[in-house]
Amino acid sequence: MALRPAPVGRACLEDPLQRAGYGGPVIDLHTHSTVSDGSDTPEELVDLAVKAGLSAMALTDHDRQDGIAPARARAGEAGIELVAGAEISCQHPATMHMLVYFLEPGEGPLQDELVRLQAARDDRNDRLLDRLAEVGLPVTRQELEEEAGGSGAGRPHVAAILVRKGFARSVQDAFDRYLAKGRPAYVEKERLSAPVAITLALQSGALPVLAHPLSMGLGDSELEAALEELAEAGLVGLEAIYSRYSKDERASLAVMAARADLAITGGSDYHGTYKPDLSIGTGLGDLHVPNGALEALRDRLPG
Ligand code: AMP
Ligand code: ZN
Ligand code: FE
Ligand code: FE
Repeated sequence: MALRPAPVGRACLEDPLQRAGYGGPVIDLHTHSTVSDGSDTPEELVDLAVKAGLSAMALTDHDRQDGIAPARARAGEAGIELVAGAEISCQHPATMHMLVYFLEPGEGPLQDELVRLQAARDDRNDRLLDRLAEVGLPVTRQELEEEAGGSGAGRPHVAAILVRKGFARSVQDAFDRYLAKGRPAYVEKERLSAPVAITLALQSGALPVLAHPLSMGLGDSELEAALEELAEAGLVGLEAIYSRYSKDERASLAVMAARADLAITGGSDYHGTYKPDLSIGTGLGDLHVPNGALEALRDRLPG
């Protein structure tokens, strides 16, 4: 009997063959490179994806798309698909991130807005360093730039410097003590509202997908209501299959996605050494995103 990709959703999560890797090609739709706060270059990421046996990967750096061209060139040589993406922070009392897929680098409504957000991020970083100095943890702009490899600096880079200087035990410890929301060095950065991010994505020919939906800290019924509203605003997908989510959480998110008529996507949120417990493709070891998730997403493209 030929093995075909299982349907995406609850069935695929519970199918032991699919989980064991016999259900067709596997992909990863959420990764970060040195262009933002990952530790692998875009080319290295593609090489890791090939080694992990993936048939496709999306590069979803925060606010920036400088990695797409080099990643795509390497993916072309290696024969795997590279989906152009980005991850955008949205306004929310907790944490809300929007992944956008099939966003081609260049000019466009969302692409232009990303350039503005990059400047706002640099400004936020400056104020974050001022705040750190005030609490007796001096980090220079030059140190931050070096850690980030020039541009795209973010809190994980600051965290790594704090670890190196002996001010924290790990990146996570640096967040918990200084950098997370509500901690002494936390500084807000500019964020788009979710409806604006969704609209700009659609106007740019891209597809908006809500990342790690549980980070919004909502209960099931609140989350379902939020998804309905976001779907009405044009959201097309939900990242139900996420590294840090349990089997039950993934299954329940997949059901919510289906109810709101959202495509189910998934990814590791691989950041290399900045999130050392996560691997590309497999997350914490049990991640399994079928290629059908990418096909389901592609089906939502207009025209
Ligand atoms: P930034 O865009 O510079 O604010 O940094 C965002 C990055 O920091 C993302 O990779 C997040 O996963 C990571 N991050 C945000 N909050 C935390 C937290 N409380 N603990 C660990 N990592 C976090
Ligand atoms: Zn990140
Ligand atoms: Fe995120
Ligand atoms: Fe991410």
